Amino acid sequence: MLAVVPPPVTVRVPSKINLHLSVGDLRPDGFHDLTTVFHALSLTDEVTVALAEEPGVEVYGEGEQVVPTGPGNLAWRAVEALAAHVGKADGASNVRVVLRKGIPVAGGMAGGSADAAGTLVALSSLWKLEIGRDELAEIAAKLGSDVPFGLYGGTALGTGRGEQLVPVLSRHTFHWVLAFDQRGLSTPRVFTELDRLREAGNPPRVGSHAPVVEALASGDPRQLALLLGNDLQAAAVSLRPGLRRTLRAGVNAGALAGTVSGSGPTCAFLCSDAESALEVAAELAGAGVCRTVRVAHGPVPGARPVGGDEHR
Ligand code: ATP
Repeated sequence: MLAVVPPPVTVRVPSKINLHLSVGDLRPDGFHDLTTVFHALSLTDEVTVALAEEPGVEVYGEGEQVVPTGPGNLAWRAVEALAAHVGKADGASNVRVVLRKGIPVAGGMAGGSADAAGTLVALSSLWKLEIGRDELAEIAAKLGSDVPFGLYGGTALGTGRGEQLVPVLSRHTFHWVLAFDQRGLSTPRVFTELDRLREAGNPPRVGSHAPVVEALASGDPRQLALLLGNDLQAAAVSLRPGLRRTLRAGVNAGALAGTVSGSGPTCAFLCSDAESALEVAAELAGAGVCRTVRVAHGPVPGARPVGGDEHR
């Protein structure tokens, strides 16, 4: 009898920006406590998983030259973690993962984490596992603190190292322009730089997340624009001083406000509506302050199959 090979499964998974990112002091274990408001954007990666004779990862698109295709790829670590979780001893030995990247690599938009989240969802469908998002989120949290958010998407308050999530009500679709920098920034380097800046002086810290949550509920982009804040921004700008110029150029082009996304160097600009975002993007692209400009909106859902139920 011929074995039936299941068809490949493709999942689309969002990027994230942090509308608010408060970083606590360095803990003795080397980590920092975070309080953050994640916001999932329509700038996405696509993850396809299939059964194949030769296991491995292929990467196409944004940053394909610098993304590892071996065991260091976070998507591959997700394959191994799910196989271990369900006791498939050699589960990874016939899985092939294809990543089509739209999210900038090392851009502070959690692209690798998105791929891991997408892989967990795609593979649990390929393997026909009866496994809910909350159970996947437990595996996800072990892979990285931004991975669980890739599963849920939307807008969420993250605490701990960012992996403990509570959904936040957001009444409005917000329109964003993203400016990609020439090169990525290493997240650990940005945290180390923040620790250094804090030892040397007392850089201002973002306050409570509560006003951001209220602005999201009100749905007014102007109110939200006044409240965007990121403790990592000073460190990212210290390592990449040109970001100051990029942030200024976005606001001069008509954005309501700009912020460094996560650990940077991508800058995210909040605009009053979709039309304004297109105008800001066109002007920013002509200003010569960044490598590429994209428009996106949020919030969007977390990792979900392409085709079939994607619009539900
Ligand atoms: P974060 O905002 O979570 O700190 P980031 O968006 O700044 O992450 P990523 O794009 O996730 O950064 O990549 C960080 C590093 O992880 C890259 O330099 C790359 O070497 C490695 N990496 C591993 N797997 C992937 C993947 N699937 N996609 C992108 N980078 C990956």
